[in-house]
Amino acid sequence: MKEGKMLPIMEHFYTLQGEGVHTGMASYFIRIGGCDVGCHWCDVKESWEAGKHPLTDIDTLVDQATEFSKNIILTGGEPLMWNLDYLTAALKAKGCTIHIETSGSHPLSGQIDWICLSPKKRLLPKDEVVAKANELKCIIFNHHDFKFAEEFAARVPEDCELFLQPEWSKREEIMPKIVDYILNNPKWKVSIQTHKYMNIP
Ligand code: SF4
Repeated sequence: MKEGKMLPIMEHFYTLQGEGVHTGMASYFIRIGGCDVGCHWCDVKESWEAGKHPLTDIDTLVDQATEFSKNIILTGGEPLMWNLDYLTAALKAKGCTIHIETSGSHPLSGQIDWICLSPKKRLLPKDEVVAKANELKCIIFNHHDFKFAEEFAARVPEDCELFLQPEWSKREEIMPKIVDYILNNPKWKVSIQTHKYMNIP
């Protein structure tokens, strides 16, 4: 487990990326169990306890995933809680492009082509992840979240794509505020959880 040859995998599946820059792109998701961030609005609370998810042989998982797609999305939970060197080397050996969705709260590991950073107030991202983010996706739950988003927009690389995404349970109330905000601050784009509208995972 230390070397990352076995990891607690909650689920893995072939679907369309629902959010952010790569919305609509067919991708294979690998959801790794374990998260110590504790967002109260988290929509995958079942992922938090790593021990609840089967320790899975990574070579077998990589064979299964690459039968479907060379576009891989590592998500969680918080995937950076684990050493991703072995998993990403095995995926790279098969010619995959590797994306990660992370809060950035743990050190980077592995060979990652696209970092989607979604910073969380309860456990702030590490500087090294902020400095390498390709996409910044800030969840808007209340008005203060716009300020939090701007703090990170000032720290990510200049070519980082900037997204504001309504927290799902408050989307009807928050969306008009996001639209207004983006009209006044057009460096941002809106991200919508399109997979929830399409009823796909
Ligand atoms: S970081 Fe992600 S998985 Fe962890 S609690 Fe927050 S929303 Fe849930």
